[in-house]
Amino acid sequence: MSIDNVAIIGAGLSGLALALALHQQGIPCTIYEARSAPLNIGGAIMLSPNALRILDHLGVYTRILPEAYSFDHLYFRSADDTPLDTYEFGSVSKYNYQGMRIYRHILIRELSAMVHDAGILIHYQKKFSHVRAESPTDVTWEFVDGTSASATCLVGADGIHSNVRKYLYPDLEPHFTNAVGVTAAIPTSQLGLTSEPPYPLPVTILNPKHGAFVLAPQHPTGSVCLIGRQKHSPNLTRPQWTSLLTSPDKKWCLDFLRENTSSYPEIVQRAVSTIDIETINIWPFYVVPKLGSWRSEGGRVVVLGDAAHAIPPSAGQGVNQAFEDIFTFSLVVGRCGGGGNGRLARGLKVWQKGRQERVDRVLGLNAQIDRRRMPRRPGEEDVKGEEEPFELEWLYKPDFGEMVAGWLVVEGL
Ligand SMILES: Cc1cc2nc3c(=O)[nH]c(=O)nc-3n(C[C@H](O)[C@H](O)[C@H](O)COP(=O)(O)OP(=O)(O)OC[C@H]3O[C@@H](n4cnc5c(N)ncnc54)[C@H](O)[C@@H]3O)c2cc1C
Repeated sequence: MSIDNVAIIGAGLSGLALALALHQQGIPCTIYEARSAPLNIGGAIMLSPNALRILDHLGVYTRILPEAYSFDHLYFRSADDTPLDTYEFGSVSKYNYQGMRIYRHILIRELSAMVHDAGILIHYQKKFSHVRAESPTDVTWEFVDGTSASATCLVGADGIHSNVRKYLYPDLEPHFTNAVGVTAAIPTSQLGLTSEPPYPLPVTILNPKHGAFVLAPQHPTGSVCLIGRQKHSPNLTRPQWTSLLTSPDKKWCLDFLRENTSSYPEIVQRAVSTIDIETINIWPFYVVPKLGSWRSEGGRVVVLGDAAHAIPPSAGQGVNQAFEDIFTFSLVVGRCGGGGNGRLARGLKVWQKGRQERVDRVLGLNAQIDRRRMPRRPGEEDVKGEEEPFELEWLYKPDFGEMVAGWLVVEGL
């Protein structure tokens, strides 16, 4: 089996970055995106050194750095505003990179521009429908407009509700975690902070009874601040979520952001004093149950990013893990893609194993963080050692070229 051209379904962060990574390996690819134009949703995402190292390899990092808010730590404070803990999100001295909050649309804009400059085609308004046939040499699929296309490999980078994944797991549905995030953006000046002593941001204020309240600056100067809380919630259907997300009446979100804020420090009360309803976002937390395989039996259809392992947001690793997927996938295909004797199949098997191990470890970290952030359920007890600092070198430090080389050596590849 060999791969000499790749079709990527989805021009989101995984799909665009994958195209650049494959291009670096000299592997031709084409992107097909259901939307009519690049995604232009607001809101910043957090990138940690593991992903920034990859974006640096791809030449993206220096393009986005001037437009990003950089920071080293997330701070945890108590409801009476005393320091509790810090969570490291970057460090130039330890990992070569600070953590970064960057608007998603800026990252999409830069990735799209680089994909364009590399001569890689993005076909918009091409919604993947289903795989028609997979043969020993290629795979053919159909779009919802009735047209079809073929490639030697089809990659589903089509997000949490992936259609490509349905070819591998027709009955699998993402699982709702019974939690929803409600966020808004306010001018940071509204927080009324004095410069001395500086108030530590980004911060998560933990209230054992009413849950966590997050304040996280965005914009290079930190002049805008995301505020947000998580809430337990029953599951809704996709149309119900969509109507909530698109409804101009988000009054219940305002009410929730303001609920019980007298039990939080004054900074929280100032944060919620004026909220522009237009900036409110609702984020239901779904996860993709662990997949037995990220590849079809024939080996020519692969899923990655949220399509393979959408994870809860607590450690801010969703897209960071997707970037690990795409980079290591491209290295494996670059090393093994032209080889016979089952080289590629073995390479991709060891790729999935290595990636799944890291995703599993992130899921463990998420659970640890969640226990600190969410209100205790009735009868829930403290977990021993829960207050200890997080150890994160395993997450931020790896050199992914060395990691892939290690996986392949073990397999004799
Ligand atoms: C509000 C919010 C904040 C977040 N913050 C963070 C953060 O701070 N840090 C972090 O690491 N992660 C964060 N995440 C998670 C992160 O956004 C996801 O992990 C990431 O977007 C996954 O990228 P993806 O490209 O795999 O999927 P997606 O971003 O979902 O992209 C999938 C693409 O595929 C397209 N598509 C879907 N179906 C089809 C089809 N049938 N045919 C063709 N195209 C199709 C879609 O239109 C889309 O462009 C956040 C998520 C949300 C919602």
